[in-house]
Amino acid sequence: MQLSAQTHYQAELDAGRFGIQHCTACNHHVFTPRELCPHCGAAGLKWVRPAGTGTVYSYTTISRKAEAGGDYNVALIDLDEGVRMMSRVEGIAPEQGQIGMRVKAQVIQHNGKGLVVFQPAQKA
Ligand SMILES: [Zn+2]
Repeated sequence: MQLSAQTHYQAELDAGRFGIQHCTACNHHVFTPRELCPHCGAAGLKWVRPAGTGTVYSYTTISRKAEAGGDYNVALIDLDEGVRMMSRVEGIAPEQGQIGMRVKAQVIQHNGKGLVVFQPAQKA
């Protein structure tokens, strides 16, 4: 039995690996995981390992009580492969988050589940 794309994606994350899909028919990268290419409809998307680098497209700080963990952010990140994903940027104060900032993906484990978050990319 073949796992669904979403199930495969999560299983890889749980093992610490971040994968996105690539369509060999039209040469687009695909995210979120799916069975058919949203660009051309081809099946048989291939799993690839993204570089992990990307740019913040939008950034929102969500207020939360300190005892619940404090403020956090929700960010849309454009990976350099050309796909957009929702995540968060860690390791920065809320006001440091900026649209256009360069970030790098990291897989963390949270409650036994793998999760992609982003850290500010080191300046070259
Ligand atoms: Zn395609």
